[in-house]
Amino acid sequence: LSLQVAWQDNVDPDNMTYEELLDLGEAVGTQSRGLSQDLINLLPNSKYKFKNLFSAKKARKRCVVCQMRYKRGDRQIKLPCKHVYHSDCITKWLSINKICPICNTEVFG
Ligand SMILES: [Zn+2]
Ligand SMILES: [Zn+2]
Repeated sequence: LSLQVAWQDNVDPDNMTYEELLDLGEAVGTQSRGLSQDLINLLPNSKYKFKNLFSAKKARKRCVVCQMRYKRGDRQIKLPCKHVYHSDCITKWLSINKICPICNTEVFG
C-alpha cells in the first residue's frame, strides 16, 4: 500500500484526530522517514495575528494536525506548499513524516 493510496482512498485529514494522524505517520514511516529538527528549524515561523477585526471570525482557520483554531499569538510554521500549521504540531508531524499532511508534498523534496 503506497503512501499516496493510503491518503487519497482511506484518509480525510480534515476528519482525523491528532492520534490518528500520528498512527498513520508511524504506519507509513518505514518508507518515509521524518525530517531532522535542524531542517524543521529552516521553515518560516511566525505568530498568528488577526489582519482584520471584521473578517477575523471567518478567516480563523484550524490547524489540521490538532483540529484547533488558531489563536492570536500561536506560533505557526508555513510549509513551502503554503499550508500553515501550529509550529509544535507540524514539528512533531515532520519528525515522523517529511510530507505536508494536507497535500502530500515533500517539504524538502
Ligand atoms: Zn495544531
Ligand atoms: Zn501542503
